Amino acid sequence: MLFNIAILLGTLVAMEGVGTLAHKYIMHGWGWWLHRSHHEPHLGMLETNDVYLLALALVATGLVALGKAGHAPLQWVGAGVAGYGVAYVLAHDGVFHRHWPNAPRPVNRYLKRLYQAHRLHHAMPGRKSGVSFGFFYAPPLRVLKRQLKARRRAARRAG
Ligand SMILES: [Zn+2]
Ligand SMILES: [Zn+2]
Repeated sequence: MLFNIAILLGTLVAMEGVGTLAHKYIMHGWGWWLHRSHHEPHLGMLETNDVYLLALALVATGLVALGKAGHAPLQWVGAGVAGYGVAYVLAHDGVFHRHWPNAPRPVNRYLKRLYQAHRLHHAMPGRKSGVSFGFFYAPPLRVLKRQLKARRRAARRAG
């Protein structure tokens, strides 16, 4: 049991790394056409960006199915992927973007910092201008602000 919990927790931590890289290199790379909806003003609860969440759910379901079919402990990896997806929806859609009617507010310093870091991710429009691609880890805000200033300067120079 302890071993399984360790796998679940390890998967949760690893998923932040996977999520950060996917956000930076896929969603802001060749997958921008799906993520783009998230960086533009919109109304409503759903956006094409949610396709990524669907993909995550499929991966989690597949892993759990494989685990149940005898490839233990893959179901715990799947549970970790699913848990990350749920945490992402709560933090990103709920706290960061307040998509829900009764949206929760960032209650502690950690969440406040994540919230502000994600504001900075959305501070400039476009694919290449983002900073802070993680969802549960953010570099110090002053570092992000410095990066953002450099991006702004570069954008101005490029016209
Ligand atoms: Zn983004
Ligand atoms: Zn966002």
